[in-house]
Amino acid sequence: MDIKQIKKDFPILDIKVNNKPLIYLDNAATTQKPLPVIEAISEYYQKYNANVHRGVHTLSQIATDKFEQVREQIRKFINAEHSSEIVYTRGTTESLNLLASSLSHYLREGDEIIVSESEHHSNIVPWQMACERTKTKLRVLPINDDGTYDISKLDSLLNENTKIVSLAQVSNSLGVIHDIKNIFHYIREIKHDNIFLIADGAQGIPHLKVDVQDLSCDFYCFSAHKIYAPMGIGVLYGRKELLEEMYPYQGGGEMIKEVSFEKTTYNIAPYRFEAGTPSVSDVIGFGKALEYIEQIGFDNIIAHEDKIMQYTIEQLERIEGLKIIGNAEHKAGAISFLIGNSHPFDVGTLLDQLGVAIRTGHHCAQPVMQHYNIPGTARASFALYTDFEDIDIFIKSLNRIVPMLQ
Ligand code: PLP
Repeated sequence: MDIKQIKKDFPILDIKVNNKPLIYLDNAATTQKPLPVIEAISEYYQKYNANVHRGVHTLSQIATDKFEQVREQIRKFINAEHSSEIVYTRGTTESLNLLASSLSHYLREGDEIIVSESEHHSNIVPWQMACERTKTKLRVLPINDDGTYDISKLDSLLNENTKIVSLAQVSNSLGVIHDIKNIFHYIREIKHDNIFLIADGAQGIPHLKVDVQDLSCDFYCFSAHKIYAPMGIGVLYGRKELLEEMYPYQGGGEMIKEVSFEKTTYNIAPYRFEAGTPSVSDVIGFGKALEYIEQIGFDNIIAHEDKIMQYTIEQLERIEGLKIIGNAEHKAGAISFLIGNSHPFDVGTLLDQLGVAIRTGHHCAQPVMQHYNIPGTARASFALYTDFEDIDIFIKSLNRIVPMLQ
């Protein structure tokens, strides 16, 4: 991969911040967008802006065709069986809220939902809200100190009341890869057939090759903006037979078959979950982002990011007083750390003065911080355009600020 060349595709990487060249290491929060994606959005508004699925006129048909072609691209990208298994949402958060709302119809008092201790708040709070509504119970799979799931506790959590297991494929706060495939296969093998298995793929999709059939999940949620596509668009993958039966999430246009004051019938999946006018331009941009990734080759991206991860860990470990939080063997995309007793905000603010953008705080994963008894961490996260030079500048900047933090 020619990263120098790739960087040229991302205009924002050329800007200066605080008079220093931008070193963008906040990719777990959102990735930057390549020019073809930006141009595709602009082209949509200049040449074929129209509402989808509603018009017989030419523009509407062009927009609808492209909108549906992207659904097929996404199907291929995650190896779903049918394109009708791809529901457009606003992102991971909406996908998980959709599930928490829709699957509530299957929950009875006393049922149980399992999440892990290291989930993003989006994979905790919607379930807590569902538990309040349905008088069900949230149970928590703990993590080990290296950030991996404590699998030894799984059996004691699973029982005949378990109805939903919802786990992240990669932790956003620690960058730890979780072997959810193994967990999901295990749950199916021990004949818990009636448990909905959900993967939060927000941090998995940018860094791992995802095959939803191989994962054996019922649902897979992700946000397009974490994978070089626009904000405001994301996906809920759901197995066809489940989506076809599930109760809709929001009511409105597009999700119905027929409406009368006596009775409304709902559209087929995925449209029954896509009420209202969708963000067509963002879907178009999403399609371009997938094309862009495919041109580079996803295997190349994974291999490159892996080298960056190993190199960064090695360099960070050389800095005295710096501690990596979540030292699991398999990590992707992000590294969390602390420097001595300094507050992560100070680390982030000082690095920003040097043009280096990292994330600080609890990363919407407060239970993780409670596990380690810390207020937050500093987190550096990577993307396909992160190169060794970026890491060298990051490390040099850290070495410069360490004495200021004592
Ligand atoms: N889940 C994980 C693991 C995440 O990292 C994020 C975002 O950072 C989310 C869920 C929520 O994603 P979004 O804000 O795009 O809906």
